[in-house]
Amino acid sequence: MYRCDVLIVGAGPGGGHCARLLAKKGHKVLLLERYKDFGRNNFSSAGAPKEILSRFDLPEILVGSWWNKFIVVTTDHKRVWQSDNHQGCVLDFKKMRQFLADEVSDYGGEVWLGCRYIDHCEQNDALLVTIKNNLTNTKIEVMANVLVDATGATRRVMCGQMKKKPLFTTATGVEHLIEVDEKIYNTHAKALTFLLGHQWMPGGYSWVFPMEQNILKVGAGVYNKKHELVKEVKPLNHYIELLIQNYLQVEKYKLIDVHGETLKYNSGLQDIYNKGRIIAIGDAVSTVNWLGGEGIRHAMESAEIAHVFICQFLEGKINNFDGYQQQMKSTFLAKWNMCEKLANKKYTQDTDALINRVFSYLEGLKLEDVVDILFYYKFEKISKGLGAFVLRKLRSFFRKKIWGRQ
Ligand SMILES: Cc1cc2nc3c(=O)[nH]c(=O)nc-3n(C[C@H](O)[C@H](O)[C@H](O)COP(=O)(O)OP(=O)(O)OC[C@H]3O[C@@H](n4cnc5c(N)ncnc54)[C@H](O)[C@@H]3O)c2cc1C
Repeated sequence: MYRCDVLIVGAGPGGGHCARLLAKKGHKVLLLERYKDFGRNNFSSAGAPKEILSRFDLPEILVGSWWNKFIVVTTDHKRVWQSDNHQGCVLDFKKMRQFLADEVSDYGGEVWLGCRYIDHCEQNDALLVTIKNNLTNTKIEVMANVLVDATGATRRVMCGQMKKKPLFTTATGVEHLIEVDEKIYNTHAKALTFLLGHQWMPGGYSWVFPMEQNILKVGAGVYNKKHELVKEVKPLNHYIELLIQNYLQVEKYKLIDVHGETLKYNSGLQDIYNKGRIIAIGDAVSTVNWLGGEGIRHAMESAEIAHVFICQFLEGKINNFDGYQQQMKSTFLAKWNMCEKLANKKYTQDTDALINRVFSYLEGLKLEDVVDILFYYKFEKISKGLGAFVLRKLRSFFRKKIWGRQ
């Protein structure tokens, strides 16, 4: 029977990073992924602010494209914020997860692809875990000291055996990877573009992210809760097609890949963080930000927090993971509750006019400030934009008055 210190189920950004940190510290790690390669579930748009590379020690080769422009298109306005410096990147999600898995192997850990977690039970101060090898259709048993649920929205380890599953708020995203000609690509290069408002994607948003030369990621995501003012939401492909035809105005393109996922968020972060020798990280404990859908950095941050507790557990310094839950809550809860409230309002109540007005408040701000608000949730900075907005309105009012007198 195979034995390890830590068995990590799910080689997403959370699981991959956790396994890599533990393997680097010399622990015997096994990282498990149900798909046989990372191209199979290449679902994430993987846009992020630039700190992601230095913060999580990721090399530049994982970057599909840099961005120094942020564009928001509402039903009747387009706003562009631009900086001389890179503000972030669009990662190649497949390459990134492959890189993390390779590092696990380099540090002496094992990575089993095409292997699915089935269930587990307690046995002699350890966990006996049953795994199915999807490639050979055989069952394997593994003894692990600690089991990590990094299965993302499925929460397969923590919730798999539950008869009554918790209730989640869900959102679904679908993305097309398309190849366009150079002229179209260059128009959308170096920019994260979000299309909001009822015309483009009622109850959600659609987007255009650049990847390597001539490749764009175009997608649409919807909050799966009825919008009070929207009568009908069509299938997501309708809004992706709308974006391609009416916004990009592309007639010919090559469809390279279609992927998507449903994210599940537990309101108020009421997920199960730990149970005996099991600890859950990443989207399995709702680390994805519910307002914007950014989740890679946050899954990796939870992996960093968890790995410290796992090391202490393996060294016999603690005998449970209660401290992990406390630290996760103090890191995320207040900000995440605020974002969840805003998301609920934005995706189920806001009028088109209001969506537009909110972005008009940000108009006078620098891109760096917009990044602080949208990626670091520094909502207090909106008041800076609001002040500039009022000043602009006053200026235009007096200009019109003087103009009127002349
Ligand atoms: C369409 C879309 C676009 C997105 N865009 C962005 C973006 O631009 N930027 C951003 O930061 N975030 C984005 N996100 C969110 C982000 O991708 C997730 O929050 C992030 O991937 C969560 O990481 P994770 O490791 O917790 O889970 P996941 O990435 O979901 O990884 C879980 C892994 O567990 C594996 N698994 C599940 N069950 C089993 C099992 N029984 N046995 C073995 N393996 C199993 C899965 O195959 C998967 O590989 C997007 C999400 C979607 C759906």
